[in-house]
Amino acid sequence: MHPQLTRSFCAIATVICAFSASPAWSAELDPQPIKPELQRLIGQMYPNMRSVYEDLHAHPELGFQETRTAAKLASEMRKLGFEVTEGIGKTGLVAIYRNGAGPTVMVRTELDALPMEEKTGLPYASKAKAQYNGKESFVAHSCGHDMHMTSWLGTAQALLGMKDKWKGTLMFVAQPSEETVTGAKAMLADGLFKKFGKPDYAFALHTGSMPYGMVGYVAGPATSNSDSLDITFHGRGSHGSMPDKGIDPVLMASRFVVDVQGVISREKDPMEFGVVTVGAFNSGSAGNIIPDQARLLGTIRSYKSEVRTKMHEGIERTAKAEAAMSGAPAPEVKLVKGSDAVVNDAALVGRTVKLFKAALGDRNVIPISPITASEDFSDFINQGVPSMFYTLGVYDPKKVAEASQPGGKPLPFNHSPFFAPEPEPTFKTGVETMTLAVMNVMQ
Ligand SMILES: [Zn+2]
Ligand SMILES: [Zn+2]
Repeated sequence: MHPQLTRSFCAIATVICAFSASPAWSAELDPQPIKPELQRLIGQMYPNMRSVYEDLHAHPELGFQETRTAAKLASEMRKLGFEVTEGIGKTGLVAIYRNGAGPTVMVRTELDALPMEEKTGLPYASKAKAQYNGKESFVAHSCGHDMHMTSWLGTAQALLGMKDKWKGTLMFVAQPSEETVTGAKAMLADGLFKKFGKPDYAFALHTGSMPYGMVGYVAGPATSNSDSLDITFHGRGSHGSMPDKGIDPVLMASRFVVDVQGVISREKDPMEFGVVTVGAFNSGSAGNIIPDQARLLGTIRSYKSEVRTKMHEGIERTAKAEAAMSGAPAPEVKLVKGSDAVVNDAALVGRTVKLFKAALGDRNVIPISPITASEDFSDFINQGVPSMFYTLGVYDPKKVAEASQPGGKPLPFNHSPFFAPEPEPTFKTGVETMTLAVMNVMQ
């Protein structure tokens, strides 16, 4: 992936946290009497949803190019009776269904796939190609967004099948280009919440390498703040044999790469998460020439805003100090804020987790650690929408258990060319949990 692009949500740790965030909420909804009807609806829709899933999987599209995907979702939602508006944030869509007075609840899916080759060998594996950064690239749904879309459609269908059991407005949002963490911003800039109203709650799920039938949750930060670093050191070009006649930008930039880690290890609170990675170092053309500049590209991750600010200050100070030490002009330092951390609403997580436990059993609803990757679902949350982003397991529990044994073969994470959820159980738990979560706030 291009180093300036922030990596999106991927690796999901299933490490159980020391703290479980389940205050004594009384669930408004008792899932037990509803489950038989919900499961019947899910079973009934599954054959059609399976073919939608395979079709989406076999025809992935890159961010802001998801025209076929969006058209398919729009058509399915119109069939259900939703009022669909396409082209919000270029390729995004919004589907509204009004069912009496009550809260507006948003359910988000992503539309985009990744510029990579799929190697799962599945009969419906993608062979698609598209232009990416000026080159032809394979395209694959290796982050599970096809499963998110199918669960999103299934949830819409299940909610309409049980519309005597909730009141309010459904706001189903399909956003483009999550992988570049720019699609949510594009939809908001296009007036998403101005044209359709700001929802009272929002939910999103993401597949992860946990056992199917299980979901993982975090109260508070669930993903990281993701910022980009772009620093150019200006030196003075010279002959490689005459370093005293120039100012060496390679030396300055090299010192920066090493010294900036001192910001992490010596300045940041060691108990707080923070990462700086220089992923691209570009300078020079030949061994006997001291070039006149060096450009570094990197990524900066954190959970808390005070840690983020401290790291940005330290990175900038270190870059300037390296240049001053060489007697060079001040470097150009661009530290650009990308996506913010997804911060789940603790109260909403508390009541939803209680409901999930009642539906799936305590052992299938587990607290997980926040991940270091990023997600732009945060852009919707930061408009002041109490939200919950949770993880949906995708693998055979036996295989997950085997993989965790010493010497066990690790299962592919999101963004692996081998990432392949088990469609049926993943879909069924996705629809069951999302439908219940939405109904729970619409009582
Ligand atoms: Zn991803
Ligand atoms: Zn993803």
